[in-house]
Amino acid sequence: MGWLIVDGHEDIATELLETGRDFGVPAPAGHALSLPDLLRGGVGVVFGTVFSPDGYWKGETATENAERQMALYDALLARHPEHLFRLESQGDVSLCRAGGPIGMVHLMEGADPVRHPQELSRWVERGVRFVGIAWNTPNRYAGGTRDDVGLTEAGVRLLDEMTRLGVVPDLSHLNARAVDDVLARHGGLVVASHSNAAALRPHRRNLSDDQIRRIAERGGLVGIVLYAPFLAEGEVTLDTVVRHIDHVVALVGPDHVGLGSDLDGGFRTDKAPRGIASVADLALVGEQLRRRGYADDVIARVLGGNWLRVLRRVLPS
Ligand SMILES: [Zn+2]
Repeated sequence: MGWLIVDGHEDIATELLETGRDFGVPAPAGHALSLPDLLRGGVGVVFGTVFSPDGYWKGETATENAERQMALYDALLARHPEHLFRLESQGDVSLCRAGGPIGMVHLMEGADPVRHPQELSRWVERGVRFVGIAWNTPNRYAGGTRDDVGLTEAGVRLLDEMTRLGVVPDLSHLNARAVDDVLARHGGLVVASHSNAAALRPHRRNLSDDQIRRIAERGGLVGIVLYAPFLAEGEVTLDTVVRHIDHVVALVGPDHVGLGSDLDGGFRTDKAPRGIASVADLALVGEQLRRRGYADDVIARVLGGNWLRVLRRVLPS
């Protein structure tokens, strides 16, 4: 096996609940995610999201929806114990291999399921280590990328609880004001699990150079997302992906960029870069980096090592 790849953003539960398909067999054409594809692609760690877009589910329903997703993850892990396990400690990180076993960690995308900040610990116990406080539209904690609302009073309380429990803020879906609010209040590590460089592709879901610098200053990273409209206008290739990586590397060095593919995150592979038919093809990003002159050890960091460093810092000893 080649590089150990870490994919920092995959809406596995949402995809499986929506399609009802079996994760244990290769993904059908147009779909990108399955256990065989992750194994074949050398993905050694995967972030399985608990996705709660406000506007679909609110209040109790958001919580129920998140419970359903977490139950699906529990069932997947129980069904494939030889290939999948939940990352619970720093030591677990060293057990992950390209080709399996694959470590899974959870990222809550939209904090709507957390009815009160005091409930956050319950989700942490179940494996949530990263929380994107809002999705695209405002919830009771913050605004999202489609508005200009910062952290609310409840959001400040939630963030304080995240800081206390060592849960990492995911800035990907926050607007600039909410990002500023989070960075002013929370002194620790932050990431953007699935966002690209706005300097190359101006889009509200992408990050300004200043935001990328502030993420790097905290030791965090930017997960490059493979959704074509966030990469470029028109045709998107592996070279487009590498240009975004290049941009982050030029700004802050090679230790603060990784992958957060979001493949099957509400889009099919016709919206992925040309050449990416599933998560099994993520190593092609590494091949393209090599063609651009990247050294093998740097490629290994970009494809997985940087996320592993973050996870070692985030997980309990
Ligand atoms: Zn997202």
